[in-house]
Amino acid sequence: MKKLSTFLIGLILANVLHSQEVYQRTTKLMGSRFDFTVVANSEELGNKYITIAIEEISRIEKIISSWDPNSQTSEINNNAGIQPVQVDQELLELVERSIYISKLTDGAFDISYASVDRIWRFDGSMPQIPKEKEIKTSVRKVGYTKIQIDTERSTIFLPESGMKIGFGAIGKGYAADKAKALLQSKGVVAGIINASGDMNTWGKQPDGKQWQVAITNPLNKSKAFARLPISDRAVVTSGNYEKYVTFRGKRYSHIIDPRTGYPSTGIVSVTVFAPKAELADALATSIFVMGTEVGIHLINQLKDVACIIVKDDGSMIYSNHLEKRKI
Ligand code: ADP
Ligand code: MG
Repeated sequence: MKKLSTFLIGLILANVLHSQEVYQRTTKLMGSRFDFTVVANSEELGNKYITIAIEEISRIEKIISSWDPNSQTSEINNNAGIQPVQVDQELLELVERSIYISKLTDGAFDISYASVDRIWRFDGSMPQIPKEKEIKTSVRKVGYTKIQIDTERSTIFLPESGMKIGFGAIGKGYAADKAKALLQSKGVVAGIINASGDMNTWGKQPDGKQWQVAITNPLNKSKAFARLPISDRAVVTSGNYEKYVTFRGKRYSHIIDPRTGYPSTGIVSVTVFAPKAELADALATSIFVMGTEVGIHLINQLKDVACIIVKDDGSMIYSNHLEKRKI
């Protein structure tokens, strides 16, 4: 009898281990393509987990979207120069971490860049380059040091009318991290949350191999310039090859230098590797603004962070850590 039950348990275990498979779904969230990959024991479970991740990202979108007029972020923006707005702890902490990254990058990253995005539009609705005077006026409203946070009351206040915050450069990374953490807490052993090139991964494929991520070559989109094994890490690629406008042959990227109000130039793509997608996302955007030299210098000082920069002349610059691995 004992033998039989041991045999049965063994059989069940073998079955459970054996039936682990990869399940995937693609959907549009936060105005972007999201690809979900999870490892689960059945299709039913795989689907359930992916739905949980989608619901988590929709929940976050409702808080941080500046397109949604009912989001807490829009409420903060609508009350700029009027009054502080009470927000969820989660949003307060995201703003705090954003300000920390602003300090780390000397203001290259700044969620309050968003007052300038009223002027620079990259959806085709901008007939000409904004006037210098307009840019100067709007950039005066930018400045992360002006954002007032009251942790006791859980409020955020933008003290000047016309100020605006936006999480375009950090929100997708944050969402990927949150969805990963939630799925891990539900016992999902492995997966990839890919928010249009901002991804976080955990665990391994059912056959024990590491996940492989492909990084697109911005100068030749059909070709991946690197395919790397990855586990329990985030990889984020920011490129100005998708959102940009061209006037008189000059390309203006959707990443704005918060200090001048002008789009960054010189870099076509930045890939950042970090333990969290949120940090990687914010740093990738910052490097566009900081430029190659300053950007690489910063990355080389950060623990567990690496990057690849593709400049508009086609040259590629690797941070120290990556050079050693010869990717
Ligand atoms: P993508 O959405 O292509 O992944 P990024 O992560 O680089 O791109 O984020 C770019 C977005 O970040 C812009 O579309 C804009 O919403 C916002 N943004 C632009 N400049 C800055 C900046 N200096 N600091 C913070 N956010 C910015
Ligand atoms: Mg970013």
